[in-house]
Amino acid sequence: MRLSNGMTLCSVCMCVLPTNHSEARCKKCEANNETYETQHARLNAAFAKVKSENWKDPINATITATDEEIRVIEDAVIYFTGSLISAQRLKDGRVRIRAAGYYVNIGA
Ligand SMILES: [Zn+2]
Repeated sequence: MRLSNGMTLCSVCMCVLPTNHSEARCKKCEANNETYETQHARLNAAFAKVKSENWKDPINATITATDEEIRVIEDAVIYFTGSLISAQRLKDGRVRIRAAGYYVNIGA
C-alpha cells in the first residue's frame, strides 16, 4: 500500500517497507505466507486468551503460554487495543499478562 508521502506499507501487518522493497508484504509476512485474513484470525485467537469480559477493559490475565505465544499475544494486544503488555512468568510456570487496554489508550 503506497501512501501519498511515498512510503509503502506491508499489506498484511502495515509495517513500513524499505523504499526499495518490491513485494506487497514485508519479509516476515512473506516468510509466514500470511494474508490479512490469517493474521486477523491468529491475533484474534491470541487476544481471546487474555481479553477481559469487555474487551476494552484493562487486561489482567494469568495463562499458560510459551514465550512464542506471548509474542503473538503482545502483537494481538497492540493490534486490538493499542496498548503494550507486561508479561511476568510466575513460579508455577504460568504467565501473568497485563495491559492498560483500549479505554486507557484512547484517553476515555
Ligand atoms: Zn508484514
